[in-house]
Amino acid sequence: MSKVFVLDTNTQSLNPVHLGRARLLLKQGKAAVYRSYPFTLILKRAVEQPHLEPLRVKVDPGSKTSGIALVNDGSSEVVWAAELIHRGEQIKRDMDKRRAVRKNRRQRKTRYRQPRFDNRRKRKGTLQPSQTSRVCNVVTWIRRLMRLCPVSAISQELVRFDTQAFENLDIEDVQYQQGTLAGYEVREYVLLKCSHQCSYCDARQVPLELDHLQPRAKLSSNRASNLVAACKPCNQRKGNQDIRDFLKGQPERLARILAQAKTPLRDAAAVNAMRWALYERLKALGLPVECGSGGLTKFNRITRDLPKTHWLDAACVGRSTPEHLVIKHVVPLRITATGHGSRQMCLMDEHGFPRTKPKGAKRVKGFQTGDLVRAVVTRGTKQGTYVSKVAVRTRGVFNIKTVRGTVTDIHHRFCTLVARSDGYSYHARKEAALPPAA
Ligand SMILES: [Zn+2]
Repeated sequence: MSKVFVLDTNTQSLNPVHLGRARLLLKQGKAAVYRSYPFTLILKRAVEQPHLEPLRVKVDPGSKTSGIALVNDGSSEVVWAAELIHRGEQIKRDMDKRRAVRKNRRQRKTRYRQPRFDNRRKRKGTLQPSQTSRVCNVVTWIRRLMRLCPVSAISQELVRFDTQAFENLDIEDVQYQQGTLAGYEVREYVLLKCSHQCSYCDARQVPLELDHLQPRAKLSSNRASNLVAACKPCNQRKGNQDIRDFLKGQPERLARILAQAKTPLRDAAAVNAMRWALYERLKALGLPVECGSGGLTKFNRITRDLPKTHWLDAACVGRSTPEHLVIKHVVPLRITATGHGSRQMCLMDEHGFPRTKPKGAKRVKGFQTGDLVRAVVTRGTKQGTYVSKVAVRTRGVFNIKTVRGTVTDIHHRFCTLVARSDGYSYHARKEAALPPAA
């Protein structure tokens, strides 16, 4: 298990503790549960001048899933990890739906409306709502972690490739430098640029080598613009020839390769608005923010012999990554962004007319849809104990969504609140095949 967060009675954050220690604290009555997700205890006493071990929050932001890891740089230990699943696509769908309804409503010839189409302006640098939600999700979680444990630094993956690192590459031969970071990044960069296929014969799924357009023997450069991916037979056939001699019979291919080599990969220039917006927000938190490239993350992960998962990618972000990452017993918390309900006042039929009564109160008998409740049903056909999310209804009988399906019509008297809805749902997941910790 990941470690457990601990606060003192004044909600001052302390060092996270091992699960066994947390169990002992609870058993001895020295602490109480403060939060279920992420699991946090609160001590019943104040701690004067605690000895804190600083932690580093590391983020690998993605469009569907972001990885988050808390790493203790001193002990090389991953203390806690999570995978945050965003709701960007759902937001996009909802916005599309709303736009369609509004458009439909404006088209109806019920009264005269002033034309309304050229009076909108988008400020420069405005993100799409779906992108904003991703940025906000990550910032929310980093702020939460900062309240629960002693966070002293942040690492973020900002760009896919560190183009500066290999534009000035001046090493003997890139092919012999794959063990180094610059060689690794340039290789990944060129492979992606050539879509992982041989530039000369379009072969896929074969081992690819880097080939110099102008051969090394003629003292050409090692810059990425002089490199293409080639399969071994093609590379050997080309040998020391210049590309123009080698592709004499195929002018079209030659032109294509030369053009492709010259244009830098657009993605590599990191025109990823979401990541830059996140970077600005993280800087505003007041902690030092370290930035890493995707190439560096992959290099770190592979040299440490770790499998590809979102949370391990996060743990490998940046140059601060410890030599040996201790990941034993870490179970990442799976966090799904669910939002805080909708503002739509009632449901519609297919013509856009109201189909239901106006929406009732959000909170019913002290419960709200999305709250985590424990329902102990003592009589009737639905006897049993259910711990899950609740969907409230104004009548006071609720639905509870369990793994085995939805249990309907549970009276509110049977329910007790475990955790308030906070816009996320949680699921602790065991990793199937993790290598033994280094
Ligand atoms: Zn080939």
